[in-house]
Amino acid sequence: IRRIGILTSGGDAPGMNAAIRAVTRVALANGFEVMGIKDGYRGLVEGNYIPMDKSTVSDILNRGGTVLGSARLTEFKDLEIQKKAVQTLQNAKIDAVVVIGGDGSYRGAMALTKLGINCIGLPGTIDNDIPGTDFTIGFDTALNTVVEAVDKLRDTSSSHHRCSVVEVMGNRCGDLAVWAAISCGAEIVITPETGYDELDVLERLRYLDKAVKKRHAIVVISEKIADVDELARKISQNTGFAGRATVLGHVQRGGSPSPRDRVLASMMGEKAVDLLMDGVGGHCVGMIDNKVTSMPIEEALSSPRHSRKDLYRLFDRLV
Ligand code: ATP
Repeated sequence: IRRIGILTSGGDAPGMNAAIRAVTRVALANGFEVMGIKDGYRGLVEGNYIPMDKSTVSDILNRGGTVLGSARLTEFKDLEIQKKAVQTLQNAKIDAVVVIGGDGSYRGAMALTKLGINCIGLPGTIDNDIPGTDFTIGFDTALNTVVEAVDKLRDTSSSHHRCSVVEVMGNRCGDLAVWAAISCGAEIVITPETGYDELDVLERLRYLDKAVKKRHAIVVISEKIADVDELARKISQNTGFAGRATVLGHVQRGGSPSPRDRVLASMMGEKAVDLLMDGVGGHCVGMIDNKVTSMPIEEALSSPRHSRKDLYRLFDRLV
């Protein structure tokens, strides 16, 4: 290979820029040319490419979001569109691509590899919901954002005998919620893994109010589980606490990446280039048991997600 393309796809995440920088710099240092592909698979199909040199990726390490832009292109599942993309890449003499994104983006990378363009996937999302890795690029930064917000809510909740119901992201993965709940000493955590029983939650809060005499309570809940305004209303009606809902929303996706995410992204970016130099395609990079690893995307997508049972048990023991 002589020329490597790089794109970001799906939802953006802090640390994507650090990965773009790492791939670019390691590739350049090994004598490759690098092309930035704008707006994910959309730009890839349209040939929206920009040459990357060392200075193109200066001053982006600390910036959230992605300088290459991200987009969704549902038609990329279509074989004809994929073939068109391969033609466009070949015209631009790009013979390998690093894709930073989620599992949908991985499927696109797998498809391109089957058509002869070696691709490597890097896990970029705050949700930590991508198989093949213990941690995704962006998760640590989002966790820091959530913890900061919940700490602030706790200050004001305790002054008013409130129960704060905080909805966090995670896209059907409870990691952000359970890590935040342990970090903040939340009273209750509700995630896809714990399941949700409204009556149980109200009962537990009544107990915390009457028997434990808690001055405040924090409930951390994953998105897409319950209407948090409704839950807060029920808490006000059925327990001694005044319920207040806070949906943290897209602030969780922003901000300067944490040092941990910057290092993770840099290590993963380096690994992606190493794999391409070894002629490997169709793999995704992960951090498993503190080691940078890779495995075929197909294997990652069909393997069960890491279990967080130990974290839920710990949470239960700490409340
Ligand atoms: P996030 O976790 O942030 O949602 P994602 O990568 O899973 O990230 P998707 O919207 O699922 O986000 O996928 C991003 C893009 O990847 C899609 O817009 C599409 O271009 C491409 N893609 C998704 N699924 C496939 C597939 N089965 N085959 C080929 N390309 C796909």
